[in-house]
Amino acid sequence: MRIDVLTLFPEMFDGVFGASILGKAQGKGLVSLRAVNFRDYANNKHNTVDDYPYGGGGGMVLKPEPLFAAVEDLMPEAGKRPRVILMCPQGEPYSQRKAEELAAQEHLVFVCGHYEGYDERIREHLATDELSIGDYVLTGGELPAMVVIDSVVRLLPGVLGNETSAVTDSFSTGLLEYPHYTRPAVFREWEVPEILLSGHHAKVEAWRREQSLLRTLKRRPELLEQAELTKKEQEWLKRMAERERSDAEE
Ligand code: SAM
Repeated sequence: MRIDVLTLFPEMFDGVFGASILGKAQGKGLVSLRAVNFRDYANNKHNTVDDYPYGGGGGMVLKPEPLFAAVEDLMPEAGKRPRVILMCPQGEPYSQRKAEELAAQEHLVFVCGHYEGYDERIREHLATDELSIGDYVLTGGELPAMVVIDSVVRLLPGVLGNETSAVTDSFSTGLLEYPHYTRPAVFREWEVPEILLSGHHAKVEAWRREQSLLRTLKRRPELLEQAELTKKEQEWLKRMAERERSDAEE
């Protein structure tokens, strides 16, 4: 996979792209990550990439020419057009489903906004996707792009040492993940659940599924509406929800 990021601050990506899982994934040739300064594509002598908004008002707006020129320069002459992803607080709320969809692409181009945001023609005629990482406003699209890139790259085959670790992650299954424990078995009198020490694989799996369901019920019950559940699980969850309600009323 190839990922290009169009940004006014390419140096922000040095640490993130060079370290940990992303650094290793690049080292293994599984992904190519590049941060490109779109100011280099400005078509005026002061390298200006922003301008005053038509109609007045505060703040500056990113001009269309440099971003269109940069994306066109990054496109292969033949072959598939890349997905052009605008980072934007007004965009589609980012999710694990979207990460899975993006991980199946060959080429992604992220566009990091600044100031008041983008000239609307960038949104309408250049972007294929608009993504928001949450209902809050950051100064620029760099941190959101890093969040999305990290979550996409870790899904690429061969990137994580243990392939199963992404498969059971929260949201991948439609549920929150079960709790984890490691050594020591007793820490400050707090014991690891006995079942996990039993070595009984099937029982451990059943316990994990139950914990996963319970945790989702308690923390993110709305996820259960979309999750794949057996009839038995649905009935069990109904009983658990009723128990929770009556505990809360007491
Ligand atoms: N005036 C814009 C608005 O109200 O929608 C906000 C612009 S914000 C200060 C500047 C840039 O930061 C945006 O263009 C976007 O690239 C990025 N950004 C800020 N918050 C974001 C979020 N929650 N998700 C994704 N990108 C965000």
